[in-house]
Amino acid sequence: MEIKSGIPVSPGVAIAPALVLDSESFRIPRRFIRKDEVDTELKRFELARTKAIEEISEIRNSIHSIVKEEVGLIFNAHLQMLNDPLITREIPEKIKAKRYTPEYAVSRVFKKIIKPMKEINDAYFLQRVNDFYDIQKRLLRNLLGQRAHDLAALDRKVVVVAHDLTPSQTATLNKAMVAGFVTDVGGATSHTAILANALGIPAVVGLGTITSDVSGGDVVIVDGKSGRVIVNPDDATRAKYEARGQGFIDREKRLADAAAKASRTTADDVAVRLYANIEWDNEIETALKLGADGVGLFRTEFIYGQYGAHPTEEQHLEVYRRAHAALEGRPLTLRTMDFGADKFAAEVGLDREENPFLGCRSIRLSLREPSLLITQVRAALRAATMGPTRLMLPMVGSVEEFRAGRAIIQNTIADLKREGLEHRADVPVGMMVEVPSAALIVDHFLNECDFFSIGTNDLVQYTLAVDRNNQYVAGLFKHTNPAVLKLIHHVIKTCTDAGKPVSVCGEMAGEARYAVLLLGMGLRDFSVGPTALPELRTLLSRVKTSEAAALATKALSMTSADEIAAILDIEAERLLPSEEFGY
Ligand code: PEP
Ligand code: MG
Repeated sequence: MEIKSGIPVSPGVAIAPALVLDSESFRIPRRFIRKDEVDTELKRFELARTKAIEEISEIRNSIHSIVKEEVGLIFNAHLQMLNDPLITREIPEKIKAKRYTPEYAVSRVFKKIIKPMKEINDAYFLQRVNDFYDIQKRLLRNLLGQRAHDLAALDRKVVVVAHDLTPSQTATLNKAMVAGFVTDVGGATSHTAILANALGIPAVVGLGTITSDVSGGDVVIVDGKSGRVIVNPDDATRAKYEARGQGFIDREKRLADAAAKASRTTADDVAVRLYANIEWDNEIETALKLGADGVGLFRTEFIYGQYGAHPTEEQHLEVYRRAHAALEGRPLTLRTMDFGADKFAAEVGLDREENPFLGCRSIRLSLREPSLLITQVRAALRAATMGPTRLMLPMVGSVEEFRAGRAIIQNTIADLKREGLEHRADVPVGMMVEVPSAALIVDHFLNECDFFSIGTNDLVQYTLAVDRNNQYVAGLFKHTNPAVLKLIHHVIKTCTDAGKPVSVCGEMAGEARYAVLLLGMGLRDFSVGPTALPELRTLLSRVKTSEAAALATKALSMTSADEIAAILDIEAERLLPSEEFGY
């Protein structure tokens, strides 16, 4: 039994055998197979090798005749290598005798071939080294492709173990079969974490070396609240975590019951509106059941993940109409696509950037390629005849950027009018406040922006210069850093004083300890992941705005992030005592 500790990102307990996903572009860890798996794994390797031969033959045969001879020779050499005993004999030997996984056997054998060639440091050999890398990659891709296929066609429950999962990979996890997942890297507000919550899959990230520590078939316990991951537990531990898992399910039920009975106001009768953050329209039904007043953030970039690089206007329209139909007249805030950085960069064919979070993501991309934005906005305005809609621009950092985005929307309205297509022209246009520059000068936007929503995930990342996806700096990602609180307070106060709608839609709004603080700063509109709704509704119905305001005043006068977090925890415990809602 081995106990590891990581960053908990989605609560609940999962217990199941591991399915380990290696990654083609990452070091393949030393991993072993069981004796009874040797035959299947040998077959897997042979399948991957045959497929590589087929692929290379196909490429060779399709080469244009002008370059046929020269390039053909390279591919002939590749084919020869794939039939070399080093590969046909030595790799299977390592699978059989040492019980290496085929992936690890491939990486070992290629290392043995490549290392001496590199040491010669001769141009000819260095060229051959690249050929070997190419073949190794092809073999690994085929082996890993089989694993990806395994993931899509699961017939038993597993815990997925991966170096990293991209948001698009996470989005395709089959909740019925993926009991939980754990990764080497990641941070608490990464999109992978947000998706795990949306899907209700217990998850722990930032474990460092979990892909090396676990072999396929090992039983893994994932405790998504404490961040503990236990490999091959003994019976007593397993029983303890089974009970804890049931405790979590019971707690969710108690919270749902409490929320259903709770008033939709604070304890002193001040109305608070709780909206849902969604990635797909099919989350709306659950969100409404959990008490959502509407959708406060639709991360529409996930539509691109669903339909491929460029969904058509009709495809967008279909999604937005479905969303309105499910909402039955409740408000829908559509955030225009927020691609780039960790989200769907590859899917939309973006170039790799050195610093993607500071690069051409989000509104910057929309302004660089307006046609993408126009397609989406046309659909949003057309669907808006079905229900109240707001359009929200992400990552705005300057007034010029907001104006440019708004101008595109205005022109799109004019186009729709000219074309005689039914639409709404009076849709409010707002912005995310998630770049510190925008937060500091929020007053400059008041005359041109219809509403504001504070994206704390990015605001914390950019204010503190802490990558939200990086486990090494996860300890520095503190919502209670006084600089962050000052910015959030400034935005809420400036907007409320001016009578402009303002909400918070980052993960912060959904955590009990921070929600009271935000209420105390004057916030009345919260937008959170659907699973956070019952707790938030119960919590806010139990607190008076005067108590929350006193807490906020105190927190804003303090200088230590940890001390602020400590007083927030005490208040959250008072309102939602562990005896009632612990597990
Ligand atoms: C945020 O940054 O807080 C936010 C809500 O947007 P996203 O998490 O999609 O970047
Ligand atoms: Mg953001």
